[in-house]
Amino acid sequence: MDGIRRRDVILGILSTVITGICIFFGCFYRPLLFLAPVSLVLYWYLDKTRLRCPHCGGFINLDTLLYASAHPCHCRKCGEKIVIRP
Ligand SMILES: [Zn+2]
Repeated sequence: MDGIRRRDVILGILSTVITGICIFFGCFYRPLLFLAPVSLVLYWYLDKTRLRCPHCGGFINLDTLLYASAHPCHCRKCGEKIVIRP
């Protein structure tokens, strides 16, 4: 199992977007505020388990992952190529 799955990258981006939306609309509609920590925990879990460098386990931010899905990109810690699998 080498590389990061594109599905996990998209899920990570979605969960951060949902967290933002929930906090914003939570100001007007209270129950949405309780949904924000759920999506935040989902992102935290994805980040800890899937969105890591497959070679050294180093943190890669979402911007880099999004860039890596279309361009060749290397890990900042170990210098290995980051492969995004479909
Ligand atoms: Zn690395």
